[in-house]
Amino acid sequence: MMSLQILGDIMDGLPDRRGLREFLVIFAVGCIVTACAYGIATNAAGDDPVTEIIMILGLSAAAFFGPVMAFRQRARDKDHADARVRAHHSHLNEVLQNMSQGFCRFDADQRLIVANDQFARLYALHPDRVKPGMNLREILQARIANGLYAGGDPGAYIQKRLACVAAGEESLDIHELPDGRVLSLSHKPLPDGGWLTTHEDITELQKVEKQIAYMENFDPVTDLPNRRQFRNDIASRLESRTGAEKFAILHLDIDHFKSVNDTLGHAAGDKLLRLVGERLRKCLKAGDMVARLGGDEFAVVQASDNQPHQATVLASLICAVMKELVELDGNQIEAEVSIGIAVAPCDGLDPDQLIKNADLALHQAKGDGNGIYRFFESGLDARMAGRRELELDMRKAIGEDQFKVHYQPLVDAKTEEICGFEALLRWEHPEHGLMSPAEFIPLAEESGLIVALGKFVIRQACEEAMNWPDPVRVAVNVSAAQFKNANIVGSVMHALSRSGLAAQRLELEITESVLLADSDATLEMLHMLRNLGVRIAMDDFGTGYSSLSYLRSFPFDKIKLDGSFVRDLTNDADADEVLAIVRAVASLGNSLGMTTTAEGVETQEQLNMVRQEGYSEIQGYYYSRPLPAEQIAERYFPPEAMAVGGAA
Ligand code: C2E
Ligand code: CA
Ligand code: CA
Repeated sequence: MMSLQILGDIMDGLPDRRGLREFLVIFAVGCIVTACAYGIATNAAGDDPVTEIIMILGLSAAAFFGPVMAFRQRARDKDHADARVRAHHSHLNEVLQNMSQGFCRFDADQRLIVANDQFARLYALHPDRVKPGMNLREILQARIANGLYAGGDPGAYIQKRLACVAAGEESLDIHELPDGRVLSLSHKPLPDGGWLTTHEDITELQKVEKQIAYMENFDPVTDLPNRRQFRNDIASRLESRTGAEKFAILHLDIDHFKSVNDTLGHAAGDKLLRLVGERLRKCLKAGDMVARLGGDEFAVVQASDNQPHQATVLASLICAVMKELVELDGNQIEAEVSIGIAVAPCDGLDPDQLIKNADLALHQAKGDGNGIYRFFESGLDARMAGRRELELDMRKAIGEDQFKVHYQPLVDAKTEEICGFEALLRWEHPEHGLMSPAEFIPLAEESGLIVALGKFVIRQACEEAMNWPDPVRVAVNVSAAQFKNANIVGSVMHALSRSGLAAQRLELEITESVLLADSDATLEMLHMLRNLGVRIAMDDFGTGYSSLSYLRSFPFDKIKLDGSFVRDLTNDADADEVLAIVRAVASLGNSLGMTTTAEGVETQEQLNMVRQEGYSEIQGYYYSRPLPAEQIAERYFPPEAMAVGGAA
């Protein structure tokens, strides 16, 4: 049995010719050694045949089994090596077949040595069309036949591969296949003149990359270029500018965007942004560019060299186009914009500087009114810095008690009795002295500080009014911002309950701007206030452009004719027309059952005229300037008297 196994091992150990040759050589040497041993044994054994036979057998066995054992070991080693190679091949194959990329290895004669299944799958090739030994051209032909080839002329493609191999250069190509997929092809030359190719489907990756590139450069709401692309565009225009060539930057901002967003919702806000973007696009000429910078801000680069003339023309056109009402979910909305303009190169040679200067001009435009444009001027920067400083001062001032409320009497036109006082805010600025609200209220509204200031005034006014006899009222001015951002109803209720003032003695004066967005929420708040018993007055009547329609939207208790009409009654060349307006407002108010107040009455003549026209209440320097609370008490409410006898 044992010898059979050994023989089997020997046979296993003899798979190749070289092994057989070695075996025969060792066996021959064994035979020679055996022959020698036989000689030695014959001599050594002398005449003893048994010893002789034993020695012969021993030496022969040694000579024969030595090589046999060596070959047996050799056979085992070979087995192990083969198993290792097989395992290695199988691992390699596993790796190849499980690669997500298609893989091919070609030799120097452009013949395929190996390809994985993924390669065939990528190009929908039958395995028969991708067999080792096939040349590259055949495989390309198969792909062309499948309609899944985008490498151009196959001959040129092959030449390119060979050239890369010759130059020892790797290459990477992107092929868009006719079926819409995008493949990346990487070629790596090998030292034997062949090469490796990997083919990867990067369709999804490309989509994501395109998406990212889009998001980096475009605004998804309006599809317009975003701030980044806008800035890059300015930078490249500045770079490629020759000589004294000019271009303009228009920075735009939708005037009442926030109220649209707040009242009609974000979807309507987005719609408005798209509409504005569309209108702007229509105003542009070739070479111009419009971008959305974020929020309600847009910007235009105007390529025209004829500056500032062309920027003026474009800004006027945009202002005019934007004045047309926009229909949003059944609501008529204004899309008016304010515009700030900077011209390159005079207003800056750097994109950021130009953008900043256009922005400063925009702030100026917004400060001067809505729906207008302003050019950058060199002093704007300093002025803006001044505003910022004032804003910081204002934040401090609230905590440091620098704000004071003054009161101006409202007098009954017939009896000349005091009906109430209007609370007017003053700022005792440590450096600038007593500041009028016209200087800081707009800034407070812009910065949101008006909310805190407004609460302060309502509280102070209610507390102060408690020192006056019932039914003398106090009137408080309320900004639009207080209706948008603050719980005005809560503030009023709090001030009333804290002071103990009857709601009927508090009057809130609002201007058209509060109703501008015509929002249901604002009207609801006004109704809630009125239901509490608080009176609501329409202030500065006649200065807006659609006062009558606003007057109809809410049952106001009072209309206050703007002071400018009273002034113009005696000053203006068109005194007759002014008188007609003054008269119309009085009869309108009276017919609607509202109190009518004439503001800004300074002279006896003016007083006579407004009395004649039927105004029920008078306010103005004729009776008194606004005064601090202590002086009001001293002057009007000494314990003994309450009636006002004449001019202050
Ligand atoms: P307004 O509500 O129209 O207040 C009347 C303004 O006319 C006051 O200016 C008052 O001093 C002034 N005035 C009164 N009588 C005469 C007169 O006979 N001749 C002239 N030339 N002017 C007269 P003031 O106090 O400078 O306030 C300006 C504006 O600031 C106010 O106009 C009001 O809109 C706003 N304001 C004042 N206080 C507050 C406040 O507490 N909150 C808010 N939101 N705004 C306020
Ligand atoms: Ca007022
Ligand atoms: Ca007024």
